[in-house]
Amino acid sequence: MQRAAGEFYDGFMAAPMKQCPRCAEMVLAEAVACRFCGYDPAEIERAQRAEAVANDRWVTLLLIFVVIPAAVLAGWLLFLR
Ligand SMILES: [Zn+2]
Repeated sequence: MQRAAGEFYDGFMAAPMKQCPRCAEMVLAEAVACRFCGYDPAEIERAQRAEAVANDRWVTLLLIFVVIPAAVLAGWLLFLR
C-alpha cells in the first residue's frame, strides 16, 4: 500500500511540476494558476518586474537629487578655495 502510493507519487512527479509559493502544493509547471488556491505565478512575476522598475527609478532620482548636487557642491567649494 505504502509502496503503491509512492509509485503513484513518482508517476505524478514525472510531469514538470513546481511548488506553489502560496499554498505549497505541487502544481504543473505550465499551469497558469494554482489549482488549489488560485495563485497566479505570472501575477507575482509582473509585480516583481514593476518593483525592479520602481527601484531603477529610485536610483535615478537619488542620482539626480543627491549625487549630482553633492558633486556640484563639492566642485563649487573647491572652486572657492
Ligand atoms: Zn496554491
